[in-house]
Amino acid sequence: MSFEEIVALVKSHPIATLLTIGVASEIIWRTYIYVRKNALTSKRKVHEVLFFNEKGGSCLAKHLQNTHKMPRPTIFPDSQCRNEFCTSKHTHRIAYEMDQAQYSLDLAIYTLTSVTLIDAINRSLERGVIVRLISDHEMVDSSGSQIRSMVGARVPVRCPDSNSMMHHKFCVIDGEARVNEILELKKRKSVRPYNSILISGSVNWTRQGLGGNWENCIITSDKVLTKSFQAEFRRMWNAFKSTANTVSAHKKK
Ligand SMILES: [Zn+2]
Repeated sequence: MSFEEIVALVKSHPIATLLTIGVASEIIWRTYIYVRKNALTSKRKVHEVLFFNEKGGSCLAKHLQNTHKMPRPTIFPDSQCRNEFCTSKHTHRIAYEMDQAQYSLDLAIYTLTSVTLIDAINRSLERGVIVRLISDHEMVDSSGSQIRSMVGARVPVRCPDSNSMMHHKFCVIDGEARVNEILELKKRKSVRPYNSILISGSVNWTRQGLGGNWENCIITSDKVLTKSFQAEFRRMWNAFKSTANTVSAHKKK
């Protein structure tokens, strides 16, 4: 249909034509909103499990050699390792997901000593990601614990004041509810693309957990699971509110 014919049509049936244009615009607008919303929420599907076992360290010497050549390892340097249980590859796989964080990183971890994963937390902080940490008060000063150094890096830490253990080992990256909370706090309307990811399993983020024990770690973008874990983190964070600021950056003498 030519432009002249459209003009003639509008002149002969103005109301019907305007209604058609109105409906068409509404459809285009709704399609745009739908596509944009789906483009911004979990595009990348992840669903995998890492197993840590007695085979994880068999290639360690090779990786240490590589690390020696590169003083600061690049992200995910050991991804080509053929050992399917490679400790180094698995640890960097977790760090890789943390490196994708755009807005938030909520970590509930019993013990934290892994240099690779602490580096990933620090890189997140440098990018402006908001990190929150829940841990166990008895483990704050366990050997090699980096909980106080996280406080020094301005990460808020809460530990339940209880004889029961805060035994979780999970991390929610860019959980949708948390991202929305942050956007509201910062009064931002535009959203950067992000993926909600859950990392959870038996493994503590320690040298022993990642490189000696028999452990598992699931990485998933499953909506139901990321939502549930994000909600439980939020619930715990609020429940442990009275313990905010009780862990200092330095141990009291
Ligand atoms: Zn390896």
